Amino acid sequence: MSDNASNNLQDLQYFGEYGGVNPSISDSSTYTFISAKTMFDTFEGNTEGCYLYSRHSSPSNLYLGEALAAIEGTETANVTASGMGAITAVILQLCDTTDHIVSSRTIYGGTYAFMKNFLKKFGITTSFVDITDIDAVEKSITPKTKMIYCESVSNPLLEVADIKALSKLAKKHGIPLVVDNTFSPLTIAPAKLGADIVIHSLTKFINGTSDCVAGVVCGTKDFCLALKDVNSGAGMLLGSTLDSLRASSILKNMRTLHIRMQKHSENAKYLAEKFEEDGLRVVYPGLQSHSGHETLKKQMNSKYGFGGLLTLDVGSLENANALMEMMQDQKLGYLAVSLGFYKTLFSAPGTSTSSEIPMEEQIEMGLGDGLIRFSIGLDNDIKRTYEMMKACMLQLNILKKNTITV
Ligand code: PLP
Repeated sequence: MSDNASNNLQDLQYFGEYGGVNPSISDSSTYTFISAKTMFDTFEGNTEGCYLYSRHSSPSNLYLGEALAAIEGTETANVTASGMGAITAVILQLCDTTDHIVSSRTIYGGTYAFMKNFLKKFGITTSFVDITDIDAVEKSITPKTKMIYCESVSNPLLEVADIKALSKLAKKHGIPLVVDNTFSPLTIAPAKLGADIVIHSLTKFINGTSDCVAGVVCGTKDFCLALKDVNSGAGMLLGSTLDSLRASSILKNMRTLHIRMQKHSENAKYLAEKFEEDGLRVVYPGLQSHSGHETLKKQMNSKYGFGGLLTLDVGSLENANALMEMMQDQKLGYLAVSLGFYKTLFSAPGTSTSSEIPMEEQIEMGLGDGLIRFSIGLDNDIKRTYEMMKACMLQLNILKKNTITV
């Protein structure tokens, strides 16, 4: 697969106000007009290159949006103040009261809670399905369904969605396919596989420094303009706007995304293979034993590997907590939610990022309380990291010499 995504990003060249190598940051919430008529036209959305008010749009946010559209291969993109700001705006833009959503059942806990609990206020209902079962997805579609929603690689179970097949289904029923691609930037380009709208939490790999929250909606010009409409746009009216200073720092960090993704994937694959050899219950889409391995291979850009996330089931919450605390003490990473940082992050999703999902549903989807989600960092010596992690597991009896206890 050619690497247009990264090349497109590399070719975006902006000059700052004084010829700087980074674009100038727009340090204003509001913008002047020489003519009152131009101000009116801008309100009506009829002027190109004019800015009105930074909740609507700002030069720094447009630069970042352009870079994200370049990697996702969409016409354009709107950046938002968080991933949830992107997800909620898209859903509320597409759904009216009493409408219906078909969603993967393994998605980020916040998205799940929004669909299951918050949307009740509007009478919007969601059928949560096994997204890898295309027949089940189709059976859940009703005349009220306004979208199929999934994550390309799901949080936290790392299920892989067959985006081409889902897109075919969505098109057959005349509804959009919305894909959250937070776990697999550059590895998967959902829009090129047929997704209509692609969302990211930029908070994760794309920014990569765990210093802010941000999000993006990548899509057609028409949809992104509709989100910004002053009378009816969910982006404009719900007001989840990214600050220009942050947009500018995320854009700079994005310049190294291609190198970081390769290293995250290389390190995660090494650990996953070693853990599997040790007989541990490891889930990683790059392992042949992973149920979505072939689907991912079919739709990925192999240059970026199988991603930086893996899960390890160590049997019980007690084991999980003890291991995470010990690994943090040994400076192997942080016991923290989130992902895509240069240090390894680990957390137990059942009691953190997926705790919004009721226990019986967690069990049904295979989310055991001994499950640890690892976002593998950019460690320079991953062999040493592995040896140190293994030593922790031996010390805690999670792993016994030659016998596995989990
Ligand atoms: N989508 C996925 C897959 C996530 O993991 C998260 C957060 O963990 C979000 C969306 C929400 O993003 P944010 O925290 O930036 O609002």
